[in-house]
Amino acid sequence: MTVEAFIIALEKAGINLTEQQIQQFELYFNMLVTRNKQVNLTAITEKNDVYLKHFYDSLTVAFYVSALRTDDKTLIDIGAGAGFPSLPLKIVFPQLRITMVDALQKRVNFLQDVVTELNLSGVEIVHGRAEDIGQDPNYREKFDYATARAVARTSVLAEYTLPFVKVGGSFLVMKGSAAEQELAEGQRALTLLGGTLNETFDFSLPNGDKRYVQIVNKNKKTPKQYPRQAGTPNKKPIGH
Ligand code: SAM
Repeated sequence: MTVEAFIIALEKAGINLTEQQIQQFELYFNMLVTRNKQVNLTAITEKNDVYLKHFYDSLTVAFYVSALRTDDKTLIDIGAGAGFPSLPLKIVFPQLRITMVDALQKRVNFLQDVVTELNLSGVEIVHGRAEDIGQDPNYREKFDYATARAVARTSVLAEYTLPFVKVGGSFLVMKGSAAEQELAEGQRALTLLGGTLNETFDFSLPNGDKRYVQIVNKNKKTPKQYPRQAGTPNKKPIGH
């Protein structure tokens, strides 16, 4: 996807980028490929691929969750890595208040540099594991939305994300073709942690790759014993 195709595809979804936002994406792309030579951030480095598989793909969640476009909501991105999906969302919808969590210090450093260079405000970056931060009262049940892209299967992600979501908020699941199977396997975890599937959207990226956005509403508090100790959710997923 060229930069021009990216701009046009977003226009079709009702999103009109400003000159400043187009430049912020350009700067972000340049920082990503430059830093990627020293620190492993992404396997995707070809410009058209970055615009499609990172930038555009990150924004698709806002095609279906319209409050992300307009409302002053809080969103936590678990395992943000090089900033996906939360940084593209922040660039396009600056009213969002974003918290990015990652376990790797080198990725956290990169995120901090991008936030500074792009002059973004209303962004917090936290170095640590979701299992530890999810037990911190400053972060627990404080967010309107939690999401995580390419971090773990849904049963594990439920334990990484739902502890952060307020009752009345949602876990936004972003998945590829394994979405339905992962959701079925994760059903027990979602219910136990206070979540209920509300809506599913399936669509394709412009290159034909299948994508799903599943909206899991939080309607009950997460029991205190979750998330379990760091490493346990992935080793022993709830319900497996
Ligand atoms: N979300 C980004 C994306 O879509 O490009 C990054 C995906 S990368 C494959 C997974 C990231 O999750 C890594 O940066 C890793 O450090 C982080 N991660 C994995 N498990 C984690 C955990 N339990 N807590 C915090 N970060 C975690």
